[in-house]
Amino acid sequence: MDHCTHYFGAGPAALPAEVKQKIQKDINLYGDTGNSILELSHRSEQFSSIITSAQSLLRSLYAIPDNYKIIFMAGGATLQFDAIPLNLVGSAKHASYLDTGFWSRKSANLARKYVDVKFVQGLIDSREKICCIDPEQWNVDPESAYFHVTPNETIYGVEFTQVKKTDIPLVADMTSCILMQDIDISNYGVVYAGVQKTLGIAGLSVVIVREDLIERVSETTPELLRYDLHVKENSIINTCPVFACYVTQLMLDWVKRNGGVKAMVEQANMRASLLYQAVDSNSKFVNHVCENNRSVINVAFNSSDNGVINNLLVAAKKEGLTGLEGHRNAGGIRVSMYNGTPMGAVHRLVELIAQA
Ligand code: PMP
Repeated sequence: MDHCTHYFGAGPAALPAEVKQKIQKDINLYGDTGNSILELSHRSEQFSSIITSAQSLLRSLYAIPDNYKIIFMAGGATLQFDAIPLNLVGSAKHASYLDTGFWSRKSANLARKYVDVKFVQGLIDSREKICCIDPEQWNVDPESAYFHVTPNETIYGVEFTQVKKTDIPLVADMTSCILMQDIDISNYGVVYAGVQKTLGIAGLSVVIVREDLIERVSETTPELLRYDLHVKENSIINTCPVFACYVTQLMLDWVKRNGGVKAMVEQANMRASLLYQAVDSNSKFVNHVCENNRSVINVAFNSSDNGVINNLLVAAKKEGLTGLEGHRNAGGIRVSMYNGTPMGAVHRLVELIAQA
């Protein structure tokens, strides 16, 4: 078994070693520019190629139909929590949000400034177990401007992969699961993600938006939050985060060369099944998510004995396995395993969980 150190933090997250090596090289000298990638102009031909390549890689990885536009915008997913209602509400009176935990509630609460929000119950929290109810039971008001879902709740590790088709546009915050769930984009109106977990570094979001929806934008929307202007200017309205876009292009290329979305999902399933097995086999640990909705990306567990958690964190750190502390709201342990997480590091962690 290979011995391997790894950063398991929730985001900004670990990048594959090969991607980091390429970045190091390009920081010294980028292609034939004579300069560092850090000095590349957003108006240069080279940057235009980076954007075009990132768009076409993402389009091919998710088989994105031609009537969807792909844009890159400064700011993380939280900025999209404002951008979504500002771009999509149009003349509707309300928008629906599926409640599955922390991030879905945060997105809904920010949207309230612009539109009346209707919560759809997604989460059943019985104290013993957290479950996302069956999509068939989601009761979505057909007059909503859109229906917003968060398919992977990063903090408690709650995930669902099935969504319900409705006549209103489905909007998904895929910040912690883009390229880690095999989705059919044509079921969605908008898919967005901060890229710092599965697809790059902090400071950038990717937005996949169905063409007909961009016309709904409210005229008072700040320019840099308008999807229509980003489409028109091909994501270069102003000095955009050049370096972050470049890293995302490298990550998309890496995913493509390593088997695409299907391979990423398979590997995520393998890593997660090892980890949940280890957690379930040690009576000192408990995971509160029902089996169908356990995230294969963020595995969160706790113990009634804080000493056990601290000892595990110390033992892991000694082995070079870091970033395992649970979210400040949840405590315990959280193991975030985004694309490129080496199996060797997961095996090592599993051994430590068994010994705890
Ligand atoms: N949505 C989800 C599902 C997340 O996990 C996070 C970050 N952990 C966010 C939104 C917020 O992202 P950002 O920090 O980029 O605003």
